[in-house]
Amino acid sequence: MTTVLTPASPLTAADRCDRCGAQAYLRVVLASGGELLFCAHHGRKFEPELKKIAVEIQDESGRLATTAASATSDER
Ligand SMILES: [Zn+2]
Repeated sequence: MTTVLTPASPLTAADRCDRCGAQAYLRVVLASGGELLFCAHHGRKFEPELKKIAVEIQDESGRLATTAASATSDER
């Protein structure tokens, strides 16, 4: 198994959504240097806004999905 991208610090169960406190699956690094954490639900909800302000979005929501049918091929 070859990992292409190795995040510096993977999200863990200790990382919580800033909005609802659920386990976070998205880490959003802001241009300002700050970080936001979101669960899969809120990550999706705020994605359009986040993409405007984020320099990096670490999306580990794929870990949740058991629908391995199609990966989103939305690669900027
Ligand atoms: Zn949430």
